[in-house]
Amino acid sequence: MSDCIFCKIANGEIPSATLYEDAEFRVILDLGPASRGHALILPKAHAANICELPDELAAKAMVLAKKMVGRITEGLGCDGFNIVQNNGEVAGQTVFHFHMHLIPRYKGDGVGLGWTPGELGDKEKEEILSKVKA
Ligand code: 5GP
Ligand code: ZN
Repeated sequence: MSDCIFCKIANGEIPSATLYEDAEFRVILDLGPASRGHALILPKAHAANICELPDELAAKAMVLAKKMVGRITEGLGCDGFNIVQNNGEVAGQTVFHFHMHLIPRYKGDGVGLGWTPGELGDKEKEEILSKVKA
């Protein structure tokens, strides 16, 4: 993908603050961090979203997330983490190259990632189960 900024960053054509790199991934600091240490896991191969990401890379991305959470916790002393992964414009995705957000959380940081809980009614529950259950 010649016009994809995360392809260029992941493959080192554009410099980035890199926390980790291997043959398949680069982990960088987000330029617009939600909190101190907010990082992004980028596969080097282009996939627009999780649906396009090969299973093997999806599995490796999660293992890498676990490793980086450990490193960031040791280095920065955060109290918890949100791992966020947006797919589609409606879900807040702005860069259409798969990435995982690692967002360190600190007591009292006020970072807002939440939603207002609705209610799961019986009818809706049955309908969803009938349409989606694998
Ligand atoms: P999305 O909204 O697609 O889930 O997340 C895109 C993220 O990429 C945002 O948090 C944004 O701050 C970050 N970002 C966008 N462009 C760049 C860039 O050129 N360099 C870095 N390091 N982060 C970027
Ligand atoms: Zn790309």
